Amino acid sequence: MAEPVIDLRSDTVTRPTAAMLDAMLRAPVGDDVYGEDPTVRALEESSAALFGLEDGLFCPSGTMTNQIAIKAHTEPLSEVICEQTAHVYLWEVGGIAFHSGASVALLPGDRGRVTAAQVEAAIRQPDNVHYPTSSLICLENTSNRGGGSCYSLDAIASIAEVARRRGLALHLDGARIFNALVATGQSAADYGQYFDSISVCLSKGLGAPVGSVLLGSKAFIHKCRRIRKVMGGGMRQAGILAAAGIYALEHNVERLADDHRRARELGATLAAQPYVAEVLPTETNLVIFRLTEEMRAETFLAHLEQHGIRASSFGPQMIRFVTHLDVDDTMVERVNHALQALSVPA
Ligand SMILES: *Cc1c(COP(=O)(O)O)cnc(C)c1O
Repeated sequence: MAEPVIDLRSDTVTRPTAAMLDAMLRAPVGDDVYGEDPTVRALEESSAALFGLEDGLFCPSGTMTNQIAIKAHTEPLSEVICEQTAHVYLWEVGGIAFHSGASVALLPGDRGRVTAAQVEAAIRQPDNVHYPTSSLICLENTSNRGGGSCYSLDAIASIAEVARRRGLALHLDGARIFNALVATGQSAADYGQYFDSISVCLSKGLGAPVGSVLLGSKAFIHKCRRIRKVMGGGMRQAGILAAAGIYALEHNVERLADDHRRARELGATLAAQPYVAEVLPTETNLVIFRLTEEMRAETFLAHLEQHGIRASSFGPQMIRFVTHLDVDDTMVERVNHALQALSVPA
């Protein structure tokens, strides 16, 4: 039998397990636009409680939860402050301009992370007619482009202090927040005191097929529910999907530590190869590395393909590996062998 393909392109490629599908089949459902789907409500309420926030909103994607939050926190002529490689800016189709008519102030961060001093310096003078109004700060934890880097709670607390003092809202793109929590030992409950809103992806490392939840105060989520509707994101018997999210939160959080260990193993193998110039520190499940000038990214990816391994190109000479539910120890061993079998072209 052919060996299974090892898909390291993203943690979004996982397929639901039999146990997750079973939970989906058994979910009680209703029309969620009427507020009558008990499984959706259970997911929204339990995930909000977990993070110490009042309410939640189940959405089809993390792009939608982020963009709804940004729209709810801003108005046209206002400005969003974020790191220059933030997903909300770089990978959401310019949605901040499209949905919210807002400007963006981009900060150069340390592997995707910004500091309180940087944020404070980016806040516009409120009384100057030339400027947009700074109204929202977006942080990303873990940072995707930063190679899965994590914020410390101290760094977050300092940024939250600036946001409060200067009257800005603070949103967390927590697409991989559970990776950060597991890697650092921080608790979800700590996050609710710092952030006005949090977006959490269920379809990344947690392994659900679809869905993200947006968390915040009751009044904020009420506003967001209308924005979700105008974006066409009001779903009906969505409890089938929410059940996968509940299952994922109950069963797939602690095991993220295994993904992190496997990512570190791959990072260590890569660092030892002569064709690898640099590997970003591997804090969670993302391994971002740069090939030397001698090794073309296309050659490298083609070599992996021959070994049944798929990875993503992530910029000139940059490659990303992502570990997830469907990558086990045997597969990591196969990847290590394939990496060691590749030599630098003469
Ligand atoms: C994946 C991701 C999202 C949302 O992605 P969707 O594919 O729309 O669910 C948002 N932020 C970050 C950092 C991500 O990695």
